[in-house]
Amino acid sequence: MYSTKTCIKCGETKPLTEFYRHKKSKDGLRGECKTCCAAYARAYYANNRDAARDANRRWRKRNPGYFTREGNKRNSATAQAHARVRQLKRETPAWADRKALIDFYAARPDGMQVDHIIPIKGDTVTGLNVPENLQYLTPEENRAKGNKVFDLQTVW
Ligand SMILES: [Zn+2]
Repeated sequence: MYSTKTCIKCGETKPLTEFYRHKKSKDGLRGECKTCCAAYARAYYANNRDAARDANRRWRKRNPGYFTREGNKRNSATAQAHARVRQLKRETPAWADRKALIDFYAARPDGMQVDHIIPIKGDTVTGLNVPENLQYLTPEENRAKGNKVFDLQTVW
């Protein structure tokens, strides 16, 4: 076994510890030394960063308004879900006992859903996302009430 190896890139002879392992090569090591690999990785990253930026720009062109309030209203279900979470957070007053809220969601019995007794966005009154305004309902009861369903993930 040789204790040194010559880099195919920079031509320097270096200890084997200066080469990364590579299963498919004969000696089990890469042909380029670690220094050359690092330089390559840096260049690769720089190129890809540009490519990523271009792709991002193209995507924005294809999806105008995605990041604006107006765009969110008519765009994807995901964007609408995000808007919904923002709304829910606005309706969670600072004085709400967040721990109690989380416990309430976490303690939800199997098959039950968390319901806002007074809907978060009612026609005449707006309920708050506080423990006192929460109850457990079966999916059927919740549907009968005509409410959307939330789980903890969508809230926090
Ligand atoms: Zn090298």
